[in-house]
Amino acid sequence: METKTFQAESKRLLELMVNAIYSQKEVFLRELISNASDAIDKMYYQALTDDAVTFDPEDYFIKIETDETNRTLTIRDTGIGMTKEELETNLGTIAESGSLAFKNENEIEDGHDIIGQFGVGFYSAFMVAQKVVVETQSYHADEAYRWESEGVEGYTIEPISNRETGTTITIYLKENHEDEAFDEFLEEDRLRSIIKKYSDFIRYPIKLDVTVQ
Ligand code: ADP
Ligand code: MG
Repeated sequence: METKTFQAESKRLLELMVNAIYSQKEVFLRELISNASDAIDKMYYQALTDDAVTFDPEDYFIKIETDETNRTLTIRDTGIGMTKEELETNLGTIAESGSLAFKNENEIEDGHDIIGQFGVGFYSAFMVAQKVVVETQSYHADEAYRWESEGVEGYTIEPISNRETGTTITIYLKENHEDEAFDEFLEEDRLRSIIKKYSDFIRYPIKLDVTVQ
């Protein structure tokens, strides 16, 4: 297992997410679903250009599952997955382009603006998660990997046994405390309405599998 530190910019954004007092933390789900959808798009383009891949729509979906006992929420996609290098680059650093290309210090201090206007991508998971685990099998690599982080301190990467191409993101929800509870993200109706609100336009099926103990 390798232990790594985040790039300074990532660390700042992560800190902002971990301590966010933003009222609409639910947007983390929009971000993760949008990433899952992008990953499936990439698989689709692969199929267009590569005779070895067939794109059967049945095989491409996003699945959201909860586990009340462990207080986890899992978002799985059958997209392109990530290689080890991609895990480090995509989840360990902030890209220059895209939604995270904010340069202004004021924007960083006022977290609301960033979250509201730009979306914050993958790191938004840390608004609700005390730990995030990403397990992924890239279409382009032989090995599968697990990326794990509890926030600003850094992350670990280790090889895991091969699995279906795609990515599974497991959110270990933060502990409830006086001011705030996170259990709502384990509730089927709540999840359904968040998905409807933010991800209605996603063109792959979003399957919701909520187990009520
Ligand atoms: P953005 O989506 O704007 O690029 P994010 O922070 O949301 O920024 O995601 C960072 C990158 O991590 C993505 O560009 C993508 O390369 C990678 N990534 C995130 N989630 C997934 C996923 N489910 N499957 C494959 N790659 C992913
Ligand atoms: Mg994104």
